[in-house]
Amino acid sequence: MSTAAPTPTDFIREIIDEHNRSGRFDGRVRTRFPPEPNGYLHIGHAKAICIDFGIAAQYGGECNLRMDDTNPEKEDQEYVDSIKEDIRWLGFQWDRELYASDYYEQLYEWAELLVEKGLAFVCDLSVDKLRSYRGSLMEPGRESPYRNRSREENLGLFRRMRAGEFPDGSRTLRAKIDMRAGNLNLRDPIMYRIKRAHHQRTGDKWCIYPMYDFAHGQSDSIEGITHSICTLEFEDHRPLYDWFLQALGIFAPQQIEFARLNLTYTVMSKRKLLQLVMDGLVRGWDDPRMPTICGLRRRGYTPESIREFAGRIGVAKTNSTVDVQLLESCIRDDLNRRAKRVMAVLRPLKVVIENYPEGTVEQLVAENNPEDAAAGTREVPFARDLFIEAEDFREDPPKQWFRLAPGALVRLKHAYIIRCERVVKDASGRVVELQCSYDPATRGGEAQGVKVRGTLHWVAATTAIDAEVRLYEHLFTQENPGENGDFIADLNPASLETLTGCKLEPGLRDAAVGDRFQFLRQGYFCVDPDTCPDHLVFDRVVTLRDTWARIEKKQG
Ligand code: ATP
Ligand code: MG
Repeated sequence: MSTAAPTPTDFIREIIDEHNRSGRFDGRVRTRFPPEPNGYLHIGHAKAICIDFGIAAQYGGECNLRMDDTNPEKEDQEYVDSIKEDIRWLGFQWDRELYASDYYEQLYEWAELLVEKGLAFVCDLSVDKLRSYRGSLMEPGRESPYRNRSREENLGLFRRMRAGEFPDGSRTLRAKIDMRAGNLNLRDPIMYRIKRAHHQRTGDKWCIYPMYDFAHGQSDSIEGITHSICTLEFEDHRPLYDWFLQALGIFAPQQIEFARLNLTYTVMSKRKLLQLVMDGLVRGWDDPRMPTICGLRRRGYTPESIREFAGRIGVAKTNSTVDVQLLESCIRDDLNRRAKRVMAVLRPLKVVIENYPEGTVEQLVAENNPEDAAAGTREVPFARDLFIEAEDFREDPPKQWFRLAPGALVRLKHAYIIRCERVVKDASGRVVELQCSYDPATRGGEAQGVKVRGTLHWVAATTAIDAEVRLYEHLFTQENPGENGDFIADLNPASLETLTGCKLEPGLRDAAVGDRFQFLRQGYFCVDPDTCPDHLVFDRVVTLRDTWARIEKKQG
């Protein structure tokens, strides 16, 4: 958005600058974005994507997309496809598309090499047993009774593991490092486990799969990645990352960790998002309440607003939680600049202008976007029968009420000043119609000497089109869902409100899926893909109220 903004700098860029000065990677910068295809990408991934791709672009380097597909049971082609779609939509293009599973053979050979070097051994402890041998931060681990097998025996057993001679989980290949190491990741970590699982790319070729730690660094190394940027939880894995590369004597990238993004009122782990989808608690991965990229896209977020958000939150080394209002403020700013203004009445109340000629439809001229003169104007029909927002009328108004009430005057946006003369109620006493008068001299909103403070949006009844409008609130009632127990218990039962029979100005008839508008006085809305020829559906992207700007102002 702000193309003229100075190039951001942060601790990652400072490290890269230092490498460029010292010539560590001959001035090369190559990064990768390494998702595990076990779910859809979320706004946290968008932060990582902006860092990985942004840094490569800034330094004239390249950024690869690597699927970290070493967990076949949880992975799927559907996720691979969605990941690619989401990255492109965010506005980035990878240099190479790569898969960790393409390196299985090479990784296996490297595992044999470590066995031959006496740096890896086959362990017969069950995973549970293994855990009890591991010790804790307070106490050292215990060495496996299988730790001192001969190289020949280890090699034979490892080959038989690969050949499928042993049941799942019965043996592992472990690195022989140090059971007394302060860093638990160095206590003879598992390199391979036996698991008969079908892999979406390698099929049934393998029944042993490498662990993340034995795959990630070597994959980076194979691809010539210079800066392997990841989130803080991998900081404790860096010594192991470096250990494997050194033990194998292969090219060693620099791993750099940054803080994960957390957002208030939502969850960010793929496991939890998957649970919401699987348990039918949301409509799918692209439910507009989800923090997924596809959910935000469907909601009406623009790629620019998400990139702007990533820029505003910056890159830090300590974990923190970002107020979701910052994200909302980014889309609000973006749509304020570009969304066409229209009038839509979400909860209609009928108004009849009794002194307006019956059967006449007058075309009034309305500005499309006061923020953008180039957006031009449009015609909006005005007639005797109108709809206004039910909440813009009070029979018994409180003090300072500038909207409509019996006897009160209001301005109808782009149209006339009207006065409420009478109220029509149904048998139950509910107000169903307002009988009003208008002053023809006030066309365009000229007050003609009287003071009229309220301006309402409205839609002419006969030309109005109907729509369904979905209003969203936070998916969770708690800032940090699950903080006091099960995150599901914190779901907001009122996160979706569906309104039908909303009335829109007729120009919206041809709105296409994904089109975004400002509904005057209401917020920003986007045409939902559930729309079909006779049924228009809108999602509320965000309200107009900019609480964030106020908070920011207060904070100085
Ligand atoms: P999750 O815990 O949500 O399943 P993950 O870390 O397992 O996420 P990956 O697919 O492994 O998901 O992530 C791909 C890349 O995105 C990694 O480099 C990871 O560090 C980064 N990433 C994931 N979540 C976030 C986040 N919340 N903020 C910033 N980066 C993230
Ligand atoms: Mg991961």
